[in-house]
Amino acid sequence: MSTDDKPRLLLHVCCAPCAGACLERLRSDYQVTLFFYNPNIHPVAEYRARAEEVRRWAAQEGVTLIIPDYDAPRWFELVKGHETDPEKGPRCAICFRMRLTETARVAVEGAFELFATTLTISPHKVTNMVFRAGQAAAKEHGIKFLAQDFKKQGGFQRSLEISRQYGFYRQDYCGCIFSRREAEQRRRAKEKGPR
Ligand code: SF4
Repeated sequence: MSTDDKPRLLLHVCCAPCAGACLERLRSDYQVTLFFYNPNIHPVAEYRARAEEVRRWAAQEGVTLIIPDYDAPRWFELVKGHETDPEKGPRCAICFRMRLTETARVAVEGAFELFATTLTISPHKVTNMVFRAGQAAAKEHGIKFLAQDFKKQGGFQRSLEISRQYGFYRQDYCGCIFSRREAEQRRRAKEKGPR
């Protein structure tokens, strides 16, 4: 299949470490364009660090990358009332839905055949929650969602190898201010050790 015959896929990318193995897997079957839409990431310096790492890697790989505006106020508006939800709870479902709905909208606008997300490569995320968000976004915008669990068949291990190979910056929290606080609490508890 020549590159032109392959279906065009818009891949939502959460960060460079998660994206490497997903792109590797998709490239043989699809013409992939990357879409870095993550207004959940806090603070803005962290957002910029992750966006720049994706930009650097996409340039090296020769893949088109779209980075829309950083719409953090809208993200905070949507998750209002869910500030104390634990990670993997309802706040994450809203966060996934927001990011994948925008991906679906942009995919339709850009005449892509389908969209997918790198979010399923992380063992810290609930795959079915990501799939539900993707399928709902696909239905809303009338486009196909590729529900692929990228962590399977050694996908997560491969993402670690690619991260080492590229020397990617690796964050230690999911992205939002609330997950950052949880990570800090975990770090402090570890430093204190058992009483
Ligand atoms: S923990 Fe991660 S997925 Fe959940 S709301 Fe925060 S940034 Fe989004």
